[in-house]
Amino acid sequence: MSNIDNMKKVLDKIKENQKIIIFRHFRPDGDAVGSTKGLQAILKATYPEKEIYLQNADFSNYLAFLGKEDEPLPNEAYADALGIVLDTATQERISNKKYELCKELIKIDHHIPVQSYGATEWVEEERSSTCEMIAAFYDTFKDELKLTKEAATYIFTGMVTDSGRFRFRDVSGETMRLAGLMLNQNIDVEFIYSNLYLKDFDEFKFEAYAHKKMKISKHGVASLFVTKKMKKKFSLSNEQASASVSCMDSIKDSLIWIAFIDNGDGSIRVRLRSRFVTVSELAEKYHGGGHACACGATVYSKAEMNALLADADALLKEYKEQNQGWL
Ligand code: AMP
Repeated sequence: MSNIDNMKKVLDKIKENQKIIIFRHFRPDGDAVGSTKGLQAILKATYPEKEIYLQNADFSNYLAFLGKEDEPLPNEAYADALGIVLDTATQERISNKKYELCKELIKIDHHIPVQSYGATEWVEEERSSTCEMIAAFYDTFKDELKLTKEAATYIFTGMVTDSGRFRFRDVSGETMRLAGLMLNQNIDVEFIYSNLYLKDFDEFKFEAYAHKKMKISKHGVASLFVTKKMKKKFSLSNEQASASVSCMDSIKDSLIWIAFIDNGDGSIRVRLRSRFVTVSELAEKYHGGGHACACGATVYSKAEMNALLADADALLKEYKEQNQGWL
């Protein structure tokens, strides 16, 4: 089935249902929040008679500038609802487990499709973000759907964050055209970028510390272990501690960089990033997944952390031996 056919199926399902509940993955990023809030805003503006809810079990302080999500609905409210899950590769990663109570599920995603769920699925791995898919959805049915300034703000934010500020290889002319459509809604880009870039003083101090503490392996894997002690010292939330992965993103010859964040419950969150090299198989080996060059995983001990680092180093060695032109 073509992507257009899948989009049509999604629109038909939306039209058929009076109540729609939208879900996303836990530990939300700009794309998860932007695509869910963006779709909700489009559907609310287009179908004021329908009930459209966002039901998630966690929240991002970093993205609080995009506004609140909806108050929790009682369990009974799910039974007659169509559920739409955005930006989430696997069921296990859906933030609100009550999605199972919905009468039917749609999956809309741009991650490597490791698991199929939902009676209707529209997955485009090549898209730079799920927000880009929602922008394309609006553009395809623009005679029927209404795009508001609010919706465009959410969607543009997710397009910006998931594409590394339009820097990654999956950014296409189509990405920019769709981003342009959002900009045409008169959104305030300075408001968006200021919220994305501004940091607390403690976070700045932590960045300097992270630069000092990061390590580099024999073949160029940069890594940082953010311990419980460090989090306490700089009063960091898990979300702020996790942002440290970006401190390592521009070291020459270091094509893979990894932040390990101690969750404090016996598990260590792994944030894996790369240039040119595909790291998704490595993430899958350690209970994770994601995109070719941006993945998440989990390890459960320092020994497992070191094993992952050794695997990453071997992968980078092999990549450098077999390829040229990397930086
Ligand atoms: P993160 O470092 O958590 O921001 O993850 C990077 C990307 O990989 C995001 O698009 C996540 O949604 C995705 N991701 C993270 N962990 C997993 C996982 N366990 N399985 C599948 N995708 C994941």
